[in-house]
Amino acid sequence: MARQTPVRVGVCHNPPKVFWDESHHPAGFFPELIQAIAQQEGWSLEFVECDWPNCLASLEQGDLDLMLDVSYSPKRDRRFDFNREVVFASWSVVYARRGTQIESILDLDGKKIAVLEDGIQYESLKTMAREFDIQPLFVPVPDYFALFHLLESGKVDGGVVNRFFPTQVEPKNVVKTNILIKPDQVHFATPEGQNDDLLSAIDRHLAIMKSSPNSIYYQASDRWLAGLDIQPVNWRRMRQLGILATSLIATGFMGLILLWNHTLRREIQARNLIQARLQHDALHDDLTGLPNRTQLLQRLEQILQKPQREAHRLALLFIDLDQFKVVNDSLGHLVGDQLLLEMAHRLRCLNAANCLIARLGGDEFVVLLEQLADIHAAVQVAEWILQTLKIPLWLNGHEVCLGGSIGIVWGSERYQRPAELIRDADIAMYRAKTNGRSRYAIFIPDMLAQASQRLSLENELRKALDQQEFVLHYQPIVNLTTQELVGLEALVRWQHPQKGLRSPAEFIPVAEETGLIVPLGWWVMETAAQQLRRWQVTFSQATNLTVSVNVSAAQLLEPNFVERVDGILTRTGLGGKSLMLEITESLLIDHASSTCQQLQRLQDRQIGISIDDFGTGYSSFSYLHKLPLTTLKIDRAFTRDLSDSDKSPKIVETMIVLARQIGLKSTAEGIETEQQRLHLQKLGCDFGQGYWFDRPQPVAVVHQRLAEAIWFCRKDPLFQGGTILPR
Ligand code: C2E
Ligand code: MG
Ligand code: MG
Repeated sequence: MARQTPVRVGVCHNPPKVFWDESHHPAGFFPELIQAIAQQEGWSLEFVECDWPNCLASLEQGDLDLMLDVSYSPKRDRRFDFNREVVFASWSVVYARRGTQIESILDLDGKKIAVLEDGIQYESLKTMAREFDIQPLFVPVPDYFALFHLLESGKVDGGVVNRFFPTQVEPKNVVKTNILIKPDQVHFATPEGQNDDLLSAIDRHLAIMKSSPNSIYYQASDRWLAGLDIQPVNWRRMRQLGILATSLIATGFMGLILLWNHTLRREIQARNLIQARLQHDALHDDLTGLPNRTQLLQRLEQILQKPQREAHRLALLFIDLDQFKVVNDSLGHLVGDQLLLEMAHRLRCLNAANCLIARLGGDEFVVLLEQLADIHAAVQVAEWILQTLKIPLWLNGHEVCLGGSIGIVWGSERYQRPAELIRDADIAMYRAKTNGRSRYAIFIPDMLAQASQRLSLENELRKALDQQEFVLHYQPIVNLTTQELVGLEALVRWQHPQKGLRSPAEFIPVAEETGLIVPLGWWVMETAAQQLRRWQVTFSQATNLTVSVNVSAAQLLEPNFVERVDGILTRTGLGGKSLMLEITESLLIDHASSTCQQLQRLQDRQIGISIDDFGTGYSSFSYLHKLPLTTLKIDRAFTRDLSDSDKSPKIVETMIVLARQIGLKSTAEGIETEQQRLHLQKLGCDFGQGYWFDRPQPVAVVHQRLAEAIWFCRKDPLFQGGTILPR
């Protein structure tokens, strides 16, 4: 009895056995075979495109009825049902990057070897590695195109490729080795316990076909699989061809036509394969092998053309890695690429049905989920991704935490074009970032207006930098015991031509996101150093003052950071010990290993390092001890708690004691009342900063205060006259 519903067949891209041809039809040995069987059985076939790991995941979940070209293994037998009749036997070959010493299986020890993710060779190679006591570093890839790309670009040393994969046109700098990986037997597979009818029909047909030399089985095999191991022309082969030609002349005209036909067919086949590769490359990302933006847009276009109910059950998750730029710039592009490969690998583990995972470029990935019940399903996926990204990884001796921010957009009648969905998911992602990173945000229409405001802010900021609209205010830092002024913190403000003075809270986050913080940060450092040097020259009491400058992660991680600081000190004539750099605790936590060396070099120049907003991150004390730091700046949230009689000052006290024990000074931020100041002084805090002493003030006011040797006019019972200066 014919099947009532179409048979959903998974087709991944593995020419010549199975692939999508240039008109986006399934082609190759397996499609031809199954189409012939389906025709006789009266099945209608629905071919579904997926990459290899996703095909297997969909088959396991029953979203596909049948999968072609699956090698048998006992492990897989527990996940799927296989047809009994072996379609054919196969094996795989190790390819190596030219110049890499890979001659025997033992040479794979310690080498980076690309293997098809969830592929049979992966399992075999792992077993072989155990048996031979070697440890290759496996790099899973979604298909052989991605594998050859990694090999060609030198990102892996070797790769395991099925013997049928067309390699006559040998990729650049890649050679075939003599290492063969375990023969395997290729079958059809169905979800466990389902579709027995399909498998037994396939077995019946295969048995008949294999016993008849003219059957479609042999025709398809001749068309697609024959002769693929032929090496490029050599003299032996030329001689063979000569003999062949002589015998052809002898056998006459018919033979000639047959050969011509055969050559033509081979040429067509080779052309088809090249076109298949081009087609694949056009729709996939070079580095990760994931679908690219074009493929994502095509898929969205198809969905949006469907009836409304279906189009609206989709969610688009836009994922952006936190701090990717910083890692890429500081550890190099090769490490950056490995990070992206790892990201792609982790996303692929999602294994969700009706899901397309794409890389848009840079560190931006998209997960498209279809046929969802509601938005909660999308939120669950987002939470899974966030958890997965939290697992740290080691790259070139550095521990790196991926971390990412996710924007979610839910399909609705509002969306007519794919680009609108991507735009809104991007906007929501940005919201997740500004809300503190490593989280998700769901798009709401209000965000669109805010995003356009942000865009204009970004443009205005660029202009402001060009037109020098930034100014610095300086806030005093005071020795709590002697009440002497010890330094000034430089705090940037934006003198907006229309909107007046704007606080850093309004523009620093955007400057950080866009990278503008780097040129802005250098301007601040140079200006502050120059200003303090002027005051030191003008006022003798200012000789020992320091100027504190806030430094962002992107700036500190610039490869020539220390050299640029040297340049500023030389140009301005400021001594290294007059400069204090404030870096946030979170910056230290995220980039511990990459900053340690920089900090050491700064310390060599007597430049001070303060940990700003201390207590808001989660530094481990033992680890702080190892870094070359000068001061802990206790966040003002803790100072504020000192005025609340319910809250114990224990935390602040602990911080001060800790700082002292590891040889650091402590500075309390945000002192607003006399009570707070006295309390901190009693607890032994070294320095203080806050409105009680003074607000950040423009240059002219600071100049005046220094000139008059008076910093503030409040009465302080502990201190006669309440003046900080003169000393
Ligand atoms: P921060 O480095 O922790 O600077 C101290 C902030 O606390 C300043 O805010 C200052 O005005 C404020 N403040 C000082 N005393 C008190 C007080 O008693 N009470 C209260 N409520 N606040 C007080 P501001 O100037 O708005 O700067 C905010 C943040 O912006 C800074 O925090 C810093 O993280 C960032 N920032 C400012 N200038 C720069 C810069 O040049 N580069 C970078 N990368 N960041 C900067
Ligand atoms: Mg600061
Ligand atoms: Mg601070």
